[in-house]
Amino acid sequence: MALAPAHQQLIRELQRLPGVGPNAAARWSEWLLTRGNGTGLAQALSEALAAEHCQQCRRLASGPLCRACEQVEEPLRLAVVASEQQADKLLATGYPGYCFICHGRLSPSQGVGPEALGFMHLIDRNWQRVDALFGRQVEDQATVLYLRQLFHGRADVHHITEEDGWQR
Ligand SMILES: [Zn+2]
Repeated sequence: MALAPAHQQLIRELQRLPGVGPNAAARWSEWLLTRGNGTGLAQALSEALAAEHCQQCRRLASGPLCRACEQVEEPLRLAVVASEQQADKLLATGYPGYCFICHGRLSPSQGVGPEALGFMHLIDRNWQRVDALFGRQVEDQATVLYLRQLFHGRADVHHITEEDGWQR
């Protein structure tokens, strides 16, 4: 028996999530539509999507700036990080600057270019120092290299890793 179009659409959307294949998407959709709280998820998702995003770091916020960005000590220092989790970890170590979450790494083979990562917004301000928090894989290195070119003649870009941390 063919699934209803709305159910098929749900499966297609779930398959767009990272690491979710057709089987998992089918299982999840069934669970959400029957035993799981699909209504709660739909409501939470639509509220999160409608919330404001911090103008600086792009996290969900209840105003133009999130709480972390309101309390920045060094306003000309910026950390570029790949994920929200990494931003949280970095801020927990007392990082004194702003964070910019680019939600990914450069990957031309997967169609992820500088525009998708929002890098063009970074040159609006005269940063003194940019800390690029990335790993050591090819895509990490490519992202850092791109940032070095982007800020060339404007700010020093320091490649920092989670293990090594940042320096004053
Ligand atoms: Zn923020």
